[in-house]
Amino acid sequence: MQIYINGEFFEKEDAKISVFDHGLLYGDGVFEGIRVYANRVFKLDEHLERLYESAKAIDLTIPLPPEKLKEDVLKTVHLNEMADSYIRLIITRGEGTLGLNPYTCKTPRIIIIVDKIALYPPEVYEKGLTLVTVATQRNLPEAVNPRIKSLNYLNNILAKIEAINAGVEEAIMLNSFGLVSECAGDNIFAIRKGVLITPAISMGVLEGITRNVVIEMARKKGIEVKQIVMTRHDLFIADEVFLTGSAAEIVPVIKIDGRVIGDGKPGKMTGDFIKEYHRLVNA
Ligand code: PMP
Repeated sequence: MQIYINGEFFEKEDAKISVFDHGLLYGDGVFEGIRVYANRVFKLDEHLERLYESAKAIDLTIPLPPEKLKEDVLKTVHLNEMADSYIRLIITRGEGTLGLNPYTCKTPRIIIIVDKIALYPPEVYEKGLTLVTVATQRNLPEAVNPRIKSLNYLNNILAKIEAINAGVEEAIMLNSFGLVSECAGDNIFAIRKGVLITPAISMGVLEGITRNVVIEMARKKGIEVKQIVMTRHDLFIADEVFLTGSAAEIVPVIKIDGRVIGDGKPGKMTGDFIKEYHRLVNA
C-alpha cells in the first residue's frame, strides 16, 4: 500500500506524522471519503469541491490548487492498483504548538489513503437495517456546522456508540429542535405516497454527494422530491426509508425505534434506486 503525504509516497508502516499535528491534537482538519469503481473515481470533482468548501469554512488553505490535488488523488489510486476501493483524502491543519491557535501551524498536511472499506454486511442490503433515534443531538449549525466535513467526528461517534449499545448499526440524530437531521455517517430519505422526502440542509445535515445523486436520479425519473422539516413521525409513517453515503451507497431501512417501516421489507422504490445507482457508478 502506498500512502501519500504531502507529495511523497510511503509504505503503510512508514506513513507517519507528527504528534504535534493539530489534526490529532484537536481534530482540526477536513476530509473526504470517495469511492473507486472499476478504476474510476466516482464524483471526484464534487468531493473536491466540498473539501475546499469545508477547508474554507475553517479558514484552512489547502496548499494545492484543486486540479493538482485531483492529479495526486488519481496518481495514488493508480499506484495502489485496487480497481474497487475507497479513498480517504485528509487535510490536517499541520504541525503546530500545543495551544489551540491554528495559525501556529505553517503547513497543512495532505494525506491520501486508498484501501478497502468495510460496508455493512451484504445481508443488510437484502434484509434492511434497523435504526434507533439517539439522545446525542446533531451539532448546531451555529457551532460546528454539519456541512463541514471536519476531522472532529466526536458528535457522530457519540451517536454511533449509542446505536451500537442499543444493538443496532446506525443512529438517527435529531437537531436541537427535535427534528430529524441525518444518521451518524449517512443521509436519510423516506418515500411516502410516491414522494421522496429528506431533511433540508438547514436542518443540520452534511450535503452528501450520494444524497445529491439520489435527488438527481429521482428528478430524472419524474419523482417529486421535497427537502423538508422532517419529524420522526414522517419516518414512522413512511412507505419506505433508506440511507445514503459514499461508503454505504443506498441502504434500505425496515425498522425505526421499534416501528416497522412499510411492510417490514426493503421497499420497491428503494430497490429501484439501488439498481440505478449501481448502473451509474459502473457506467
Ligand atoms: N452524513 C454524514 C454525517 C457523513 O459522515 C456522510 C459520509 N459518510 C454522509 C452524510 C454521506 O455523505 P456522502 O454521500 O457524501 O458520502
